[in-house]
Amino acid sequence: MHILPDKVKNEIDKVSEIAGFLWERQWAERNAGNISINLSSFFENNISDKPNKLIKYNFPKDAGGMLLFVTGKGSRLRHLVDRIKETSCIIKINDEANAYSIIWGGEKDGFEVTSEIITHVLIHVFNLENNPQNKIVLHTHPTELIVLSHHPIFKDQDKFNHSLWKMCPEIKLFVPQGVYCAQYALSGTQALAEITIEGLKTTNIVLWEMHGALATAENAEMAFDLLDVANKGAKLILTAWSSGFDPAGLSMEQLEELGSII
Ligand SMILES: [Zn+2]
Repeated sequence: MHILPDKVKNEIDKVSEIAGFLWERQWAERNAGNISINLSSFFENNISDKPNKLIKYNFPKDAGGMLLFVTGKGSRLRHLVDRIKETSCIIKINDEANAYSIIWGGEKDGFEVTSEIITHVLIHVFNLENNPQNKIVLHTHPTELIVLSHHPIFKDQDKFNHSLWKMCPEIKLFVPQGVYCAQYALSGTQALAEITIEGLKTTNIVLWEMHGALATAENAEMAFDLLDVANKGAKLILTAWSSGFDPAGLSMEQLEELGSII
């Protein structure tokens, strides 16, 4: 196992803290959710390409050489709080991008990386090209956003985002690009990865229909904040509806005024 640079330890500590929040929010039941971080820029020394065990996997070519923190398949995110080495690992993808090795963590019998690995890797490749500041990919199950993904307005993304923004100023301020409404696709598939990347061309939050949400940002806290604020909008609108009224909300002029101070 490699000794981790302090910068890497800091990122992992943030993930650990945020995983606790996800559990408290009830956004991470059982093994729900997965997290990855592109750590390539945090490792100054070259990591040996002669690992104990190479695990074959067909990655996209541009992922060659990447160092990623990833959570484990079937792992409970709540365990990232106090047993992170059993629940997650750091992998190095070989230069040919046809295998990886675990260089830290994964200390549990039968440990495997998340079944959403292809989505995570494709997003990191996309980020490298388009948004290199975004190092983390966080997928979780924000309750109210999922409920709203069952509502007919999910099929009208402009209306969906307006419904979130109009509920209070912070949502327009901190999620100005809104949420991308991605139609249902099976977990762990290339189809889900592709529709997610389509969404990330315009925003950093993708809502997977009838499933959950994914955010990409500079670090774990910023990704959590994006989802937390967006979910607050969903919670407010659902609360209004369940109280029996459909709020007019902030006017277009008020929203435009907020847009001008971003
Ligand atoms: Zn999920």
